[in-house]
Amino acid sequence: MQKPKKIKRNTVPMSVNSILMFSFSALLFLVIIIMGIVQGLIMQSSLTEQTYGKQIGQSREIYVSLNEMSNDPTALRNLKINNYILRQSRESQNAVYIIDGEGKVLYPYFEEADETSSTEQTDFSGEMEDIHGAFGGADSAAGKIVSYQKDKVCYTATSMTLAGERVYLFMFASSRLSSKTILSMVVRLGIVSIGVFLAEFLVIGIVSSKISDPLAKISKNARLLGTGNFNVDFETEEGICKEINELSKSLAETRDEISKSDKMQKELIANVSHDFKTPLTMIKAYASMIQEISGDNPEKRNKHCQVIIDEAERLASLVNDLLDISKISSGMAALKTAVFNLSDYTVEIVDRFRYLEETQGYKIYTDITPDLYTEADKDKIGQVLYNLIGNAVNYTGEDKSIRIRLMRDRDRILFDVSDTGAGIGKEEINTIWDRYYRSADTHKRPVKGTGLGLSIVKTILTRHQFDFGVVSELGKGSRFYVKFPERTVWNLNTDDED
Ligand code: ADP
Repeated sequence: MQKPKKIKRNTVPMSVNSILMFSFSALLFLVIIIMGIVQGLIMQSSLTEQTYGKQIGQSREIYVSLNEMSNDPTALRNLKINNYILRQSRESQNAVYIIDGEGKVLYPYFEEADETSSTEQTDFSGEMEDIHGAFGGADSAAGKIVSYQKDKVCYTATSMTLAGERVYLFMFASSRLSSKTILSMVVRLGIVSIGVFLAEFLVIGIVSSKISDPLAKISKNARLLGTGNFNVDFETEEGICKEINELSKSLAETRDEISKSDKMQKELIANVSHDFKTPLTMIKAYASMIQEISGDNPEKRNKHCQVIIDEAERLASLVNDLLDISKISSGMAALKTAVFNLSDYTVEIVDRFRYLEETQGYKIYTDITPDLYTEADKDKIGQVLYNLIGNAVNYTGEDKSIRIRLMRDRDRILFDVSDTGAGIGKEEINTIWDRYYRSADTHKRPVKGTGLGLSIVKTILTRHQFDFGVVSELGKGSRFYVKFPERTVWNLNTDDED
């Protein structure tokens, strides 16, 4: 017997609601973080661009003004330039300097008494490498403007000639996002996140209730079904989830199947007990009769003993049939398949019924194509043929004739047995294959039946996966058929070899 598989459970099971909440929240959280980073990067790059734009505009303006001022012949020229540069620094976000080719600050300069002088930078020689690098060398045409960035600081340098000397207008400003900007961005993202999370909870609440409610109902009903209640309803109205609809549909089908097999099992037990009771009562009655009445009368005693033997035989065949069915359908009796001559075997089985032609006036017509080979469990197929022919004999009409054929039918072998009996009604045609089904009429049967014959036929042929069936017309008769696979057998006739 197969051991039931253990269910591996590595994780703590969660409700649909929690799974959706958890996964969607994680996803949203990730999306918001990515959005924040992308927004920060975009703001940073636009701030850098803006800073460069402003620096270049301011550089052009200063360049023009300084060119004019440099032509001033008065002694106030230096002071004017100095004030101008100081004002440019003060009135813009940029630090503005005029430096010489070595990086020494020429403007703004401070008087020694000026306090701000100590905080002001007076030398940019460390920057000269970058400035020359940006210009592509130390000599550069006057009016050329270059920009570069270092550690989130934007630098712009303009080469110019002041009083015949090569100088640089040098300005720089930080392009780092201010904490105010960052804060406002975080606040905006925070507000959006709260809105999105609220909407998420609402939507997931609705969606999960549409999934978990029907699932809870289905599992409750499945538990009820397990206790043997076949009236549970799985056909709830169509939900939004296709898989759940399919689950409830298959559970409804399972319920119908279990209920059908439960009903059949109960009927089987009732029928079996009934069929066991009759012969047992007879055996008991006749045994008592022998004991009390016919014990001394050999003729009567023999007759009564024969009844007991017949009834015991009937019981034995009932038990055998039941065992056969349960063995074949449970798969305990493995099929012993082999290739054999089906034509010869059919003739052999038909011959077992030939005595009926002599003793009871039956007419058995046969049309059996010789040397048709098939592959199957020979003994079990024998049982099938015997049961089908036996039924034809039992149920054929007044003319007591039956017809048996075995012939090639495309790539298969067709066996059929027809009778001229009352036929089988449409409503019965599917039920006759069920265990213990018997039509109401009481036939005089030359071949003893247990009501299990067709059920055995069905079980054996289904195990073989062979096609079979019945075609019947009320008042005209029935034709039961089986289709066997054909096998080709070579060199079987060894007599021809010499
Ligand atoms: P049994 O013949 O012992 O009753 P079966 O399982 O062989 O049991 O058949 C089941 C039922 O099918 C029969 O009781 C009968 O009603 C119907 N049946 C079987 N074969 C025929 C037939 N050839 N013609 C008409 N009815 C048949």
